[in-house]
Amino acid sequence: MLTVMKANFDVQQIRKDFPILKQEVNGRQLIYLDNAATSQKPQVVIDAINRYYKEQNANVHRGVHFLSQLATREYDDARVKVQRFINAAESHEIIFTRGTTESINLVAYSYGRKFVREGDEIIISAMEHHSNIVPWQILCEQTGAKLRVIPINDDGELLIDEFALMLNPRVKLVAVAHLSNALGTLNPVKRIIELAHSHDIPVLLDGAQAAPHLKIDVRDLDCDFYAFSGHKMCGPTGIGVLYGKSELLNMMPPFMGGGDMIASVTFEKTTYNVLPAKFEAGTPHIEGAIVLGVAIDYLNSVGLDRVAAYEHELLGYATEVIGAIPGIKIIGTAREKASVLSFTLDGIHPHDMGTILDQEGIAIRAGHHCAQPVMKRFGIPATARASFAFYNTREEIDALAEGIQKAVEVFNG
Ligand code: PMP
Repeated sequence: MLTVMKANFDVQQIRKDFPILKQEVNGRQLIYLDNAATSQKPQVVIDAINRYYKEQNANVHRGVHFLSQLATREYDDARVKVQRFINAAESHEIIFTRGTTESINLVAYSYGRKFVREGDEIIISAMEHHSNIVPWQILCEQTGAKLRVIPINDDGELLIDEFALMLNPRVKLVAVAHLSNALGTLNPVKRIIELAHSHDIPVLLDGAQAAPHLKIDVRDLDCDFYAFSGHKMCGPTGIGVLYGKSELLNMMPPFMGGGDMIASVTFEKTTYNVLPAKFEAGTPHIEGAIVLGVAIDYLNSVGLDRVAAYEHELLGYATEVIGAIPGIKIIGTAREKASVLSFTLDGIHPHDMGTILDQEGIAIRAGHHCAQPVMKRFGIPATARASFAFYNTREEIDALAEGIQKAVEVFNG
């Protein structure tokens, strides 16, 4: 199956869609391996930003004039594209936000305000990004609820049996990463959801890393909330999505107040708009949403299944080649992984590694990846992280291996 997929995947052709990849950095051809932080953008996306401001710009939902109606139609169409992209039942279950961070905060504030009380519990996991930790901590501080953490093993896999034991009637929400940005672990989210639902507990998935790499089907997953960011999936920064089941979103109070989210306002009482407007106060990121729709069209044209198969092969190759370098320790060795290779190297701080690779034109990330607790779990302050997209190649991984060897020579002589 994989061979057929590979044969169909012309990465050199794909690379032509991304103008930035032609750039040189420090006199070398750019090798961009920081895709978990943000992806690069294809020309169709760059053109769509330009086209929006040249031909479509107006505020949405307010005007009777041509441009306002055009922008409104495009904005609403983008919502339908997102709905289809993740197979949501209704387009009003798609709320546009600034990104994963805002999506999770929306749930923490709104669902939390309505349903979480002193003595209740919220469950997250030991491998969460700070944006899926801190909003819940704030909620717990404000309500007197308790944050509980699913432990992980030395490979970076969730201990599902432990998780099952943590479930009880006080738990009001489970919030876990679909795919870990620090370890690359692909979590068994369907199993997590089944277990939580058997106790009537809703589940939020942080899909920031999964949405760019896997075909997401929220109805098949049966998750209650799904959060992701446009900028990690070929779209612009500042736009993201919260998917929520309508019965839950309908029960939740607004997150922010302002224009567009109201049905009527008097000084005595305001009534709120229906979904999705209830959660989209103020002028939204109109261009961002429309262009996210274009990014989705682009990803669909490449095919998420083909992306996943190609990246799987690429990660396997990288794990083999980089893992074979003496002194390398791969952090995150789960059986199910995608797109992320985190590692440490004896005697070289990840930041020094990042700087030396940068001299070679290779962009990786060094640090705690906004997941300090998981670094603590592995007893390290930081890792070097190469993260892949479907426009990366085996040759780039070979160059990464050479760059790492160079760093070894510089530091360990
Ligand atoms: N969750 C995960 C797993 C992430 O990797 C990231 C981004 N690094 C986020 C949440 C936050 O995404 P954003 O900064 O786009 O809101």
